[in-house]
Amino acid sequence: MKFKGGIHPQYNKGTAALPVEEMPLGARYVVPLAQHLGAPGKPVVAKGDRVGRGQPLSEPGGFVSVAVHAPTSGKVTAVKELPHPLGLEMTAVEIEADGEDAWWEGVQPRGAWREMDPAALRDALRDAGLVGMGGATFPTHVKLSPPKDKPIGTFILNGAECEPYLTSDHRVMLEQPREVMEGVGLFMKVLGVTKAYVGVEANKADALDALKAACPPDLDVAFALLEVKYPQGSEKQLIYALTGRTVPAGGLPMDVGCLVQNVGTAVAAYEAIAKGWPLIQRVTTVTGAAIRQPKNLRLRVGTPLGDVLAFCGGLTEDVAKVVYGGPMMGIAQFSLDVPIIKGTSGVLCLPDAEVVQYLADACIRCGACVDACPMGLLPSTLGVLCERDRWEDLEDFNVADCIECGSCAFCCPAYRPLVQLIKRGKAELRRIQKMRQQGAA
Ligand code: SF4
Ligand code: SF4
Repeated sequence: MKFKGGIHPQYNKGTAALPVEEMPLGARYVVPLAQHLGAPGKPVVAKGDRVGRGQPLSEPGGFVSVAVHAPTSGKVTAVKELPHPLGLEMTAVEIEADGEDAWWEGVQPRGAWREMDPAALRDALRDAGLVGMGGATFPTHVKLSPPKDKPIGTFILNGAECEPYLTSDHRVMLEQPREVMEGVGLFMKVLGVTKAYVGVEANKADALDALKAACPPDLDVAFALLEVKYPQGSEKQLIYALTGRTVPAGGLPMDVGCLVQNVGTAVAAYEAIAKGWPLIQRVTTVTGAAIRQPKNLRLRVGTPLGDVLAFCGGLTEDVAKVVYGGPMMGIAQFSLDVPIIKGTSGVLCLPDAEVVQYLADACIRCGACVDACPMGLLPSTLGVLCERDRWEDLEDFNVADCIECGSCAFCCPAYRPLVQLIKRGKAELRRIQKMRQQGAA
């Protein structure tokens, strides 16, 4: 089934042919305590402590929170505010590696997932610090705990990877299909679900074939090649494409009985149970015309961005922007001192000639953004309301349903900064709604 709207940007996925390389161990790691949506963790180590690989560095700061773990063995040299990829300084644990890379004694296999109780599996995934690795970074154990009145009947594995330039998921599906499919089975067991879908964009048919071949015979899984269209990997669009179900405005996938996980998360879940590994590494695509040697890398969480760029031959002289994620939904970095975090699916290095300059020009009412919006919103109207600080009026135009996919800005001939305007509007509206709630309390 095809979802409405969407765009066809240049995919620039030349790195799809590059096998994942292991980045050699570095000398220093910086592990922020906040790498997920929800409350930041609380540190459980202090300067001078020795830590083993995989040892918890923090404890969750609430139910919607997870711990972070040491990416290698070494000495804690600081617990302090350091540059974070979200553009702020945030508390992080700095580790000087001892070069031994010795596992912490608490890292032990948890067992065979088929024989484990769903609640025990969920707790183990929480303790492993699992979050959605497609970029959303929502704690996995929370997502796997739907309210009783929203039972999940369908599990969906998201292998769309529709964001241009990024190929880390593609490589994971090709190189670790067994782990991906064991992860699917594990998620099905936690949810008590008997049917799953795997959706992959048609430009990655080799990945779908690999997953099909690796599917354990006891799992009932439907495999589908999806239309190549951005944002095919957005949850609501993926659910519609695979099941024909429409998540209602303001709703969540659980409202239509679905739960979606990314392929990297599936591998991490399997490894958390079968090997006892906490989430301390991930596959990241380092790409763009401003990096000398593009690569798909297996990186330890906490690796300084500067080390990663140096390992890829360094930036070219005409570099203008380094983005975490892809060009559509990624976050521009203001410092090269930030670390790789759990949600860093890509590092995109763009030269000056490829950076779009948005303008504050007026809307010419062409309607292109309305046709492109996959959520059926009116981006042109939302943009104008935001420019005029009419925050409360945004509610009438369902601004909260905006998935910040960037399709509207991509096709705007007037180069209006629609996503920046809408993001600001959403934040202002949330602030007003909170004040309303506090006033009513
Ligand atoms: S960024 Fe928001 S408004 Fe723009 S196309 Fe995507 S969902 Fe629609
Ligand atoms: S695409 Fe740009 S110019 Fe056209 S209607 Fe939308 S905001 Fe206006």
